[in-house]
Amino acid sequence: MPTYTCPTCHKDVHVAKPDQLASRPFCTTRCRLIDLGKWLNEEYRISEPLESTSTPPDEPSDSGADLSS
Ligand SMILES: [Zn+2]
Repeated sequence: MPTYTCPTCHKDVHVAKPDQLASRPFCTTRCRLIDLGKWLNEEYRISEPLESTSTPPDEPSDSGADLSS
């Protein structure tokens, strides 16, 4: 029977059911989401110092006002 340690809560996980392997290497899907959230948070923090001084190109859409009545 496979055993592994959950990276999120560091709990020893004993796989009793094959479908539990779906959330590997985490003990539960919740732990997987927590880890994913941490990951995304770190990504966010890394990209934060890169202050965008220039605004993204915003094309003015008010062109060609064809007023023919
Ligand atoms: Zn866990």
